[in-house]
Amino acid sequence: MNLVSMNLVTMMYLIASVCFIQALKGLSSPSTARTGNAFGMGGMAIAAVTTVALIFKLNSQAATTGGMGFGLVIGGVVVGGAIGTYAAKKVEMTKMPELVAAMHSLIGLAAVCIAIAAVSEPWAFNIATRETALPFGNRLELFIGTFVGALTFSGSVIAFGKLSGKYKFRLFQGAPVSFPGQHIVNLVVAIAIIVLGLVFCFADGVAPAWTPFIIMTVLAFILGVLIIIPIGGADMPVVVSMLNSYSGWAAAGIGFSLNNSMLIIAGSLVGSSGAILSYIMCKAMNRSFFNVILGGFGGAPVDAVGGAQEQKPHKAGSAEDAAFIMSNAETVIIVPGYGLAVARAQHALKELVEKLTHKGVIVKYAIHPVAGRMPGHMNVLLAEAEVPYDQVFEMEDINGEFGQTDVVLVLGANDVVNPAAKDPKSAIAGMPILEAYRAKSIIVNKRSMASGYAGLDNDLFYQPNTMMVFGDAKKVIEAMVKAVD
Ligand code: NDP
Repeated sequence: MNLVSMNLVTMMYLIASVCFIQALKGLSSPSTARTGNAFGMGGMAIAAVTTVALIFKLNSQAATTGGMGFGLVIGGVVVGGAIGTYAAKKVEMTKMPELVAAMHSLIGLAAVCIAIAAVSEPWAFNIATRETALPFGNRLELFIGTFVGALTFSGSVIAFGKLSGKYKFRLFQGAPVSFPGQHIVNLVVAIAIIVLGLVFCFADGVAPAWTPFIIMTVLAFILGVLIIIPIGGADMPVVVSMLNSYSGWAAAGIGFSLNNSMLIIAGSLVGSSGAILSYIMCKAMNRSFFNVILGGFGGAPVDAVGGAQEQKPHKAGSAEDAAFIMSNAETVIIVPGYGLAVARAQHALKELVEKLTHKGVIVKYAIHPVAGRMPGHMNVLLAEAEVPYDQVFEMEDINGEFGQTDVVLVLGANDVVNPAAKDPKSAIAGMPILEAYRAKSIIVNKRSMASGYAGLDNDLFYQPNTMMVFGDAKKVIEAMVKAVD
């Protein structure tokens, strides 16, 4: 049976690649995101089915020499697919960043495992025979793939811990872990990795130079941990997108080792789109791109993060008070944050806005690029409630309006409206914020005076024109909806 010719495989991979490009294009705007997702799923289905069919063909051709373990491949697809389906169905919207970090770690680990297999038995990958040494080019690919894969794996495991915030282990805490000479240590480890990688690439003989390869791999795992632990506070979004990019390059590296054009294309698309997203996030956080790549750019003084906060006086009111103030305003800007997502209050919020608009109040939503726990989190949340896109404004388009706005309603947001960003000594120094503090009146809904993700106190809550409305966002907004007659 020769249903699967190489031309057909190439054609199917090409179609899948076009689908992935269409997916990225679609995902660039909330209005086309669903179509983009459909393209992504379609492309992935085509790529997976084609690859399994290709393995089946190679397996039947190799049957006389023992086969290639087609059953193992199918078993892997079934077990992996089942775990993926369960995880995707079970995960809450607010836990997506952890899931994404976990997925990145698996891509990194897969790259390392495949590279080890290819170094060990290159003839199984058609890159050398049992009698010939691995060509230099393949060794270089395998070194780079292993390095990036190992770094991605251990870095993503640390990012997973930091994002979940529920583990006691110190390296999994949001607060940065720093020690004297950290950057020098990172540099020495990175140089050692490069030297050992080159020793592996240039080694003589048919047998691979396992010792430098293994030490290099272990050091790459350690470097992944070292570059992520000093990052903390509000800087994690950049890490998530950076690891996303690394995982793409690791996958592309595997593609070169396996001589699989689909993996090279898909990996490069993920790698480059992740790099562009990292650049956008760096701009949003006012951070240097190179500091991110080198690690440790967010090393805030430890006492600035999670330190004891003095109790300062603040004003508090009820949901009904807030509804009264907003009903009598001409303009209201709503700042959604992570707490809104936790409370799943987006539908109630849409109802509140409809009621206020009906009363003649002009209401707009202001979106900070790192609000929530993943890039675009607030856009996704509001799109889910079918909030009209013309009411939603990005930070740079709305920041100029806060000064002339009657009321700003901050819902479960904290770091993204924290004026501490203007203080050069703060952990979020330099991060652009939504300038809610300029409004005539500010209403803040959250459950307590607790800090946000960056662990910082927020002076906005103590301004004389700020009223705190304590409680779960959904309950508070529902009470506001009732109170707006
Ligand atoms: P923050 O994490 O700064 O603050 C969220 C606030 O929501 C908390 O202070 C909390 O206060 C409140 N809250 C929690 N649950 C509820 C609830 N049920 N009802 C009402 N309020 C609630 O969120 P922001 O969106 O302002 O900022 C995002 C932060 O996360 C930034 O520091 C960003 O860098 C970081 N980050 C962002 C990522 C991204 O890609 N977007 C990824 C990783 C991190 P209380 O407990 O008192 O209720």
